[in-house]
Amino acid sequence: MKECPSCLAPSEVEDRFCHKCGAALDPSPPSAGLASSTRTQQAISLGEIRFKLGLVHYRKGERAQARDLWTKVLEENPNHREAREMLEKLRVGERS
Ligand SMILES: [Zn+2]
Repeated sequence: MKECPSCLAPSEVEDRFCHKCGAALDPSPPSAGLASSTRTQQAISLGEIRFKLGLVHYRKGERAQARDLWTKVLEENPNHREAREMLEKLRVGERS
């Protein structure tokens, strides 16, 4: 619920005009920070998608594909701890 800025009549959030006086109600302002945070979100999820895809390959025993994906994840995000740990796991597995 919000109030009409003109007559203070209560109105639904999605309403664009006041039912009582017809004044235009403020549309929810688009957040300026939204675009950049969305971009960051996409960059993070692309790495996550690669990492999870690597896990799928790893579980199927396709170590080369898993290693390629996780190496790529680490190239783009050297702080990706899970990818680093899984690559280490791959190396240990190959030694035994
Ligand atoms: Zn009004």
